[in-house]
Amino acid sequence: MFRYVCSQCRKEHSLHPAIWRCSCGGLLDLDTAVQLSVERVKSRGPTLWRYREAISLDDDGNRVTFDEGFTPLVQARLGGREVFLKLEYLFPSGSFKDRGTTVLISKLKELGITSVVGDSSGNAGLSLAMYGARGGLECEIYVPSWASSRILERIEGMGACVIRVEGSRTEAERAAQKESLPGGPSSTKLYAGHNWHPFFLEGTKTFAYEVAEQLDWTCPDVIVFPVGNGSLLLGAYRGFKDLMRLGLVNRMPRLVGIQPQRCAPIVRAFQDNLDRIEVLPCGRETVAKGTRLPDPPRGKWVLEAVRDSGGTLLSVSEEEIVDSLRKVRRLGYLIEPTSAVATAGFEKYSPASPDETVVLPLTGWGG
Ligand SMILES: *Cc1c(COP(=O)(O)O)cnc(C)c1O
Ligand SMILES: [Zn+2]
Repeated sequence: MFRYVCSQCRKEHSLHPAIWRCSCGGLLDLDTAVQLSVERVKSRGPTLWRYREAISLDDDGNRVTFDEGFTPLVQARLGGREVFLKLEYLFPSGSFKDRGTTVLISKLKELGITSVVGDSSGNAGLSLAMYGARGGLECEIYVPSWASSRILERIEGMGACVIRVEGSRTEAERAAQKESLPGGPSSTKLYAGHNWHPFFLEGTKTFAYEVAEQLDWTCPDVIVFPVGNGSLLLGAYRGFKDLMRLGLVNRMPRLVGIQPQRCAPIVRAFQDNLDRIEVLPCGRETVAKGTRLPDPPRGKWVLEAVRDSGGTLLSVSEEEIVDSLRKVRRLGYLIEPTSAVATAGFEKYSPASPDETVVLPLTGWGG
């Protein structure tokens, strides 16, 4: 059986009753032993559910899915170098968040949860509302009263209830989390914030499986990610660990994380050689809204993963982001500014050798 282990106090928790963090406040980690059979993978359709044995869901009947994933990996020329672009913006809600959400919502449904609570007015909130609608779960999204966006309208359009809270983003987050504290008011309603819930990473792991399979079960030399809380980078790290354990690849790619200079707490900790994140006030707005996290809960894990992989963390200026966004769109990829954090970082990153294989996820669609 699957169980959670607290990353802070090491306490073990069963999956019932549903929780999203440890009573000590620590992040939960999922303790699983992954299986994969290449033969069975090949026999299934082009969705992330082709790696079914590696996803910790008991019953297929609980899947909440749009047959998403197995996004294209296409070759392109960028900054004078050949790269593979992974088109994560082609997910149903327009970002890689669906990778995590399809698995998270499926699992919550399996655990008897009928109502989910989130606190993102961006891509994560949209993804949660979409899968909530698909799976017949009620969805509440807490946002600061001043938040307004096209995404918020779409969230409401999918039947989710948007609750406006006076004050800052942090206050909206606290209000959402209070809705389902461990042992809290309801046993069928759960906080499903993607920055906290272990089953979100259980979904983003599939990024690594897809990249390896699309490269004929080999491993690229480098993958460059935009990083806010690191859900895609960490999923990839875990996924490649799984593949190494199973003997399907023989090494780990170097993981390179990029943050906007205006909000780069993980880059700062990396450069100062710290092993924890110091909260940085991210006062000034950045065009890369999806990576604006002053206090990323999984920041410490990102540091560990990047160091263990031999990779690095870099920051990029607003100018560099906007410039790279323009270049990538000129090639015909309709990405949002946050995605250009990674492409801008790639242009700054000096390769170890000119012919190394580089993969760049284009994480989000549109403007
Ligand atoms: C959420 C998001 C990111 C950042 O992801 P993290 O998991 O916070 O590192 C990057 N790009 C897009 C388009 C996003 O929606
Ligand atoms: Zn704990």
